[in-house]
Amino acid sequence: MTHAVIAGAGIGGLTAALALAKAGFAVTLIERAPGLTEVGAGLQISPNASAILRDLGVLEALREKAVAPSGIRIRRARSAATLSFLSLETAEARWHAPYLVAHRADLQHVLADAVARDPAITLHLGTALAGFGTTDSGVAITAKQGLLTRGFEADLLIGADGVRSVVRAKLLQGASDSPEATGRTAWRAVVPAAALDRLPQAEQNGRFETGLWLGRDAHLVHYPLRGGDLVNLVAIIREPPLDPGFDTLWATPGDPKIITARFAGWSQTARDLIAAAPSWLRWPLADRAPLPSWNAGPVALLGDAAHPVLPFLAQGAAQAIEDAQALATALTAQGSIAERLAAYSRSRQARVLAVQNASRRLGQIYHLAGPAAVARDIAMRALGSRRLLARYDWLYGYSRENEFGI
Ligand SMILES: Cc1cc2nc3c(=O)[nH]c(=O)nc-3n(C[C@H](O)[C@H](O)[C@H](O)COP(=O)(O)OP(=O)(O)OC[C@H]3O[C@@H](n4cnc5c(N)ncnc54)[C@H](O)[C@@H]3O)c2cc1C
Repeated sequence: MTHAVIAGAGIGGLTAALALAKAGFAVTLIERAPGLTEVGAGLQISPNASAILRDLGVLEALREKAVAPSGIRIRRARSAATLSFLSLETAEARWHAPYLVAHRADLQHVLADAVARDPAITLHLGTALAGFGTTDSGVAITAKQGLLTRGFEADLLIGADGVRSVVRAKLLQGASDSPEATGRTAWRAVVPAAALDRLPQAEQNGRFETGLWLGRDAHLVHYPLRGGDLVNLVAIIREPPLDPGFDTLWATPGDPKIITARFAGWSQTARDLIAAAPSWLRWPLADRAPLPSWNAGPVALLGDAAHPVLPFLAQGAAQAIEDAQALATALTAQGSIAERLAAYSRSRQARVLAVQNASRRLGQIYHLAGPAAVARDIAMRALGSRRLLARYDWLYGYSRENEFGI
């Protein structure tokens, strides 16, 4: 049986483990963290990703914990006037899979439970990849388990170890590849719905809305989690980097005074949301230039390790999930492991680049100010909900068949 080691049990690594096991591989999954605990935050799981989760048999378990919003209401920051409402009532029929929002920990647990049930996958927690080298038969991997060093032999290694990937750094062997600060930070919080006098998302037939508020150099997203008991908040603002070396990479506690002051001119509903957050985590957003290839011989990258995606389209985890499926498909084709990994990389690069670029563009559009913002709002109203929704078909209606041209 072909043996793959996957470094990193985030959304990308866990999904890749399930996809490779389903394709007949033996998988060793190594995760640096001692447990699969995740800082509280929500994730939008768009149909292009939920379709793959369904193929892997985990969608129904996720649905029990997730919420399917009735739509996305886009509003102006100051007046709270609705610019557009994108109904998601027909999402599942339109894109053949549901549009869900979930606590990130819930998605991770659903995937981890499926991993634990799969006899082809062995998970080692508290095990950090420290190095690797190619051998005649594949890859020799060194990992640290506390003070101990442990070796693994495999036919291939997948680096799913996130935006600060050790595998990527070693693959590029010192070539300049630093993350670039974008001058924007994401502030994330989870608010108990009970802490809000009035829910900002109207509840219709037991379904909640996702809210997207557009303001000058800032936008705010909120959506329900866990049956509406919690509200997830993401506020993205323009903010100078504090320290490029450190600040581009880490989630740090955010001072509520800063974010409250930043939203002072916004409508009362938006300000109430910001004020209700018990605490904030602040993520400086990093970008990277695309790599010419995501693999070298029997080693390949996946998810944020290969291609961080700015969060304006809410696609980072979704693209990692797409990568996982594409990897399994490419690895079941003919050819050497290196050829198959190169085919995986080629099959994904154009798609991910399109998503990265679309996300960057959306970030500019969301944060417009003055006459440009007025023009955007007029265009959005003129476009109407139906045509606005159709603009997401390429993204949410994507399937592996598109990727391989079959
Ligand atoms: C504000 C914000 C909002 C977002 N919202 C969305 C959204 O709504 N929808 C969406 O799809 N995406 C969203 N994303 C993006 C998404 O969170 C990431 O793109 C996604 O989680 C990346 O998954 P990953 O598995 O590639 O990496 P990660 O989740 O970073 O996982 C990497 C794993 O590797 C482990 N690791 C690291 N180094 C080692 C090592 N040496 N050895 C072993 N293990 C190691 C880490 O501990 C971690 O568990 C958002 C991002 C931000 C910042």
